[in-house]
Order: sequence, then C-alpha cells, then structure tokens
Amino acid sequence: MRAMPKPEAMVQCHRCGGREVIESKIGVLMKNGKPTGGTKALLCVVCLLKGERVTL
Ligand SMILES: [Zn+2]
Repeated sequence: MRAMPKPEAMVQCHRCGGREVIESKIGVLMKNGKPTGGTKALLCVVCLLKGERVTL
C-alpha cells in the first residue's frame, strides 16, 4: 500500500520557517544487534535547539 504521490516541495518548518531537519526514529527495536522498525519523524533543528520538538 502506498500513499498518494505528492508534489515535491521543500521541507520547511511551519513554526520558524527553518529548512534544516533531522530524522528521528521512535520505537525502534533491536533485533540481532540491528535496529529495526520504528516510526520516522522529521524534526526541525532550529526549534529543537530552542527546546521545542516540532515534527514536520
Ligand atoms: Zn522550526
């Protein structure tokens, strides 16, 4: 099952307008020494440095 194709667009923070993001993973499981699964989330770096967690 795939999501509907979306038009390409620059990822931009909706709170500060920053374009630098980092990828985080939530709920990763360790299997045979390798991290598997988990949910990816893009976080704004600028907001993160301000102590706020803004997912994109
Ligand atoms: Zn931001």
